[in-house]
Amino acid sequence: MTVEENLAAIKEKIKQACKNCERPINEITIIAVTKYVSTERAQEALDAGIKHLGENRKEGLLEKYEAIGANATWHFIGTLQSRKVKDVIEQVSMIHSLDRKSLAKEINKRAVSPVPCFLQVNISEEESKHGVQASEVEAFVETLQNYENVKIVGLMTMAPHTDDEEQLRGVFRQLRALRDRVRAKNYAHAPCEYLSMGMSNDYSLAIEEGATHIRIGSSLVGE
Ligand SMILES: *Cc1c(COP(=O)(O)O)cnc(C)c1O
Repeated sequence: MTVEENLAAIKEKIKQACKNCERPINEITIIAVTKYVSTERAQEALDAGIKHLGENRKEGLLEKYEAIGANATWHFIGTLQSRKVKDVIEQVSMIHSLDRKSLAKEINKRAVSPVPCFLQVNISEEESKHGVQASEVEAFVETLQNYENVKIVGLMTMAPHTDDEEQLRGVFRQLRALRDRVRAKNYAHAPCEYLSMGMSNDYSLAIEEGATHIRIGSSLVGE
């Protein structure tokens, strides 16, 4: 399948999901996750009309950035080692995986202007998943007040790998409730408006539960 064909099918599903929950389609940002594919395939996504690309490793990001550069808006979606922040900070527009204070500190030090970051939350509490525990999110956000180059624009989570729709919705709802609580505090450093949730298997449900940024890899550009 071409990216264009995949995108057409995905857009149809997004349209349906938005209709189901009475949300406008323009609230949804599609991030094409290109971590499994070549630079050529990433370029094909851009040619099909995608504007946002997501990478989870420094090497993959820099390799594609070299060819594509500012023709895309770049999202860092994976575990980010503090020592690599300086290598990607100029290229990325948003970081979806802020999960610890030492990383916030490094972003704050290396950035020259505020970087929009999603706080990654481990809602499902799987050992294998990174992220702040749900119960610690509010206190953590509070500790970031003095980092002027770190702006918490929303929360991100990775749902468990399951087909259990109610379990998935439960995870998305919890993230949304947390987002609402942080947003209600009206922090200048943490407007916390967005929800980065939903991948190839679960983006329709995520949209129905409030996702604003969906991260789609395999079903859009392939594995
Ligand atoms: C790989 C990855 C995705 C995309 O996963 P698919 O199931 O291929 O759509 C989304 N988010 C993160 C953080 C990822 O690492």
